[in-house]
Amino acid sequence: RDSYGARVDVVVIGAGQAGLAAAYHLRRARLAPRGPGRPPAVGGFVVLDDAPAPGGAWQHRWDWLRMQDAHGVHELPGAPMPAVDPGERASVAVSRYFAAYERELALPVLRPTRVRAVRDVGGPGGLLAVETEHAEWLTRAVVNATGTWQQPFWPAYPGRETFAGEQLHSRDFRSAADFRGRHVVVVGGGTSAVQLLLQLAPVTSTTWVTRRQPEFLARPFDEEWGRAAVAMVDERTRAGLPPRSVVGVTGLPLTEQYRRGIDDGVLAPLPMFDRIEPDGVAWVPQVARPWAPDRPVPAHLHADVLLWATGFRAGLGHLSPLGLRGRGGGIVMDGPQVVADPRIQLVGYGPSASTIGAGRAGREAVRNLRRLLAL
Ligand code: FAD
Repeated sequence: RDSYGARVDVVVIGAGQAGLAAAYHLRRARLAPRGPGRPPAVGGFVVLDDAPAPGGAWQHRWDWLRMQDAHGVHELPGAPMPAVDPGERASVAVSRYFAAYERELALPVLRPTRVRAVRDVGGPGGLLAVETEHAEWLTRAVVNATGTWQQPFWPAYPGRETFAGEQLHSRDFRSAADFRGRHVVVVGGGTSAVQLLLQLAPVTSTTWVTRRQPEFLARPFDEEWGRAAVAMVDERTRAGLPPRSVVGVTGLPLTEQYRRGIDDGVLAPLPMFDRIEPDGVAWVPQVARPWAPDRPVPAHLHADVLLWATGFRAGLGHLSPLGLRGRGGGIVMDGPQVVADPRIQLVGYGPSASTIGAGRAGREAVRNLRRLLAL
């Protein structure tokens, strides 16, 4: 039992882009790093991360995702990402960068340490207890930076449990070669669906289904586009609605590769099916569709594999004892600050769920806490 645990000013949960950015700003605010090997004292901060190694979710990204496929990995504060070979695996290159960052800034990251629950224990100053598998930390505030990777989202469709073929989430996709000769139905309108279809096309047949008509926009993914996406998601979280993904609100950039996929008929979506059957998927003729493609919808389509590229949700289960969710199904936010409890800052959540947004939110969260806790 690592019985460390102590009373600190801030516990950061998660050491991905968002958590490391927050840790950087806590150090700049001269908070003392705490953890084994450092003098025990009251105050300071610690970062608890349940991953086996540095890199946040990037360490788990698929082998096929190369730096050139990532839509731009923004740098961590105060340390530009060194030049890398565009053909290098994103999981390796980004994890190496994060590891060097933790080391050079001597950030107090304890891992693997999973946070099970955060509870309000009241008392003077309104302390929070952060419960891990090893110890309990008492803290005045929490910066939550747990990302979404651990919460793959599988929408419910009738008959899903009857499907006799293979079903998997994009998170568990390894290689197109695993699906050779099997008809794959790819579900989802985001970047992962598009990238997976393009990988599968040379080795097998595919069908793409989406809830909304995918929107390909013939302009580069630039800062203006990013800002517009962030503003739209920000509006949702301020209203306490569950956040949507950035692509969900902006559409997909029409890259040369995607254009070829459209011309070759690989990126030719059908509206979402209505039902899953043991040997495929089915559309009910009378059902009104939210959008209609150029080609007719079949009544039944054979499928060997259902690949759910349906995204991720924020992994906030450990915060549930705090009862932060409101009637809209989401948490009412003001930037990274939880309106109902300003001791809790959510970074990498909603509008800041991108590498650029995560960095900015880390800075803002620390600014908020310095004011709140008079640090
Ligand atoms: P993460 O990197 O997920 O870090 C969270 C950390 O918290 C992890 O280390 C995890 O182990 C830890 N953790 C989780 N739960 C607990 C717990 N209970 N206790 C302790 N530790 C915990 N953004 C871009 O800007 N460009 C891109 O090209 C891009 N590509 C993407 C591709 C995919 C497939 C996905 C899913 C996302 C992509 N994004 C991209 C979004 C981007 O990855 C994220 O917004 C950002 O990297 C997330 O950083 P984070 O710090 O919020 O979370």
